[in-house]
Amino acid sequence: MSKNTLITVAYGDGIGPEIMEATLDIINAAGAKIDIETIEIGEKVYLRGNDSGIEPGAWDSLRRTKVFLKAPITTPQGGGFKSLNVTTRKTLGLYANVRPCVSYHPYVSTKHPIMDVVIVRENEEDLYAGIEHRQTEQVYQCLKLISRPGTEKIVRYAFEYAVINNRKKVSCFVKDNIMKMTDGLFHSIFDEIAKEYPQIENEVWIVDIGAAKMADTPEKFDVIVMENLYGDILSDVAAQITGSVGLAGSANIGENFAMFEAIHGSAPKRAGQNLANPSGLMLGAVMMLNHIGQVDIASKVHNAWLKTLEEGIHTYDIFKEGVSKEKVGTKEFAKAVIARLGEKPSTLKTVEYKKSEKKEVKKKEEKKLIKARKDLVGVDVFLDWSNGSADDLGELLKKVKSDGLILTQISNRGEKVWPDGHPETFCTDHWRCRYVAANTGQRVSHTQVLSLLEKIGESGFDFIKTEHLYNFDGVAGYSHATS
Ligand code: NAD
Repeated sequence: MSKNTLITVAYGDGIGPEIMEATLDIINAAGAKIDIETIEIGEKVYLRGNDSGIEPGAWDSLRRTKVFLKAPITTPQGGGFKSLNVTTRKTLGLYANVRPCVSYHPYVSTKHPIMDVVIVRENEEDLYAGIEHRQTEQVYQCLKLISRPGTEKIVRYAFEYAVINNRKKVSCFVKDNIMKMTDGLFHSIFDEIAKEYPQIENEVWIVDIGAAKMADTPEKFDVIVMENLYGDILSDVAAQITGSVGLAGSANIGENFAMFEAIHGSAPKRAGQNLANPSGLMLGAVMMLNHIGQVDIASKVHNAWLKTLEEGIHTYDIFKEGVSKEKVGTKEFAKAVIARLGEKPSTLKTVEYKKSEKKEVKKKEEKKLIKARKDLVGVDVFLDWSNGSADDLGELLKKVKSDGLILTQISNRGEKVWPDGHPETFCTDHWRCRYVAANTGQRVSHTQVLSLLEKIGESGFDFIKTEHLYNFDGVAGYSHATS
């Protein structure tokens, strides 16, 4: 007899305890070899005054087991509570969020009879760094951070996922026609890594039209890799169009830890009524069983569940007169799945998970990193100013002594407004003033920047932040304003 695997379980809030009980009943009945440590997270912990929603002791369990099966939790509104999901993902380095979205036509009513899409969402970066500042009366800012190592990890994960799971194509959704540096990096790393997987088809879509196509013809997509925000939004869209948000599970994978859950939330209105569909969490648990190498149990659970769907035994959210046969509650649904353990679906595709020979995601060959030469060539000084027009500001700033730097341009919300701006352009109180070396091509020193700021301050301007302009190996590492 092989040893049981120790896992951490949290029952969560709202419908969480009911769907967790149903899920554990099913996988235990199927013979899952697991031992459980239970931790408390969510609403009760938040309301005890812990603004992260998880007690310090719970981290010890997670460090011990490295595998977390988590029911949804309720995040109390307002009051500075931090999202436990974001905290867990970042603390445990769960960089890949994998969300398979499958339709079960004709047993579950859907507009898309053929759909089997896996969204691989980057889970740690992008706007989710949560670095936000109010800078002027009118303008607020949120920083979007995309890193080379973060992008390499997620894109490689998507291709490795495709290889291991016999998928044919990886699509990448980006908005690099607008965000040429951040999304441009994601796109170019996708192109680089795609070359290492010639057996997998690859394509890149601008996210807006890509999203429209996915919602219209999901059968044309297979694996889709995306940055955090696009993936967050589009994985809910993808799950919903399969028939119900209650049908999709999700895996959050890191190098040392993994967390499995449903994609939906705690649905407080449905709590305590034996109504909720446990399928999303149960499919999360199937992904967990695969992760811990119990592939036969995972297949057994998945096939019994497909058979249950086929026989029309449905919870309220997927119940449809004429399609479904019996409307059941959470407990009865779990019992129906348990009764079918060992059976296979008749029409829907039988699942047969295999132990992957590839245990680890292939790492990039360690090449000696040659750092680019980084030259400071200017500075963008941002001002909070509302005393006139762009031309007025340009004239006033020209009078400020700038120690070897010259003002070349002023923009407002990214649109060039000086020199030669258009009078029609709407301007806020947030101005970007670009200074570069007076002698073209010369490097700029920190002392020059500090002296410039001092003079700008002394002239009565409120500078609210600066961004340095660097060239990397002679290539500009900053965007230009539109005009
Ligand atoms: P939700 O996903 O909880 O529920 C939206 C609606 O979807 C429900 O009212 C219900 O009609 C339906 N639904 C969801 N899951 C279902 C299921 N298993 N069976 C049947 N119907 C189901 O979204 P919400 O109402 O926006 O959020 C409720 C709470 O959940 C909030 O506090 C939110 O912060 C939290 N949340 C938690 C997680 C998580 O823990 N991973 C994820 C999303 C939302």
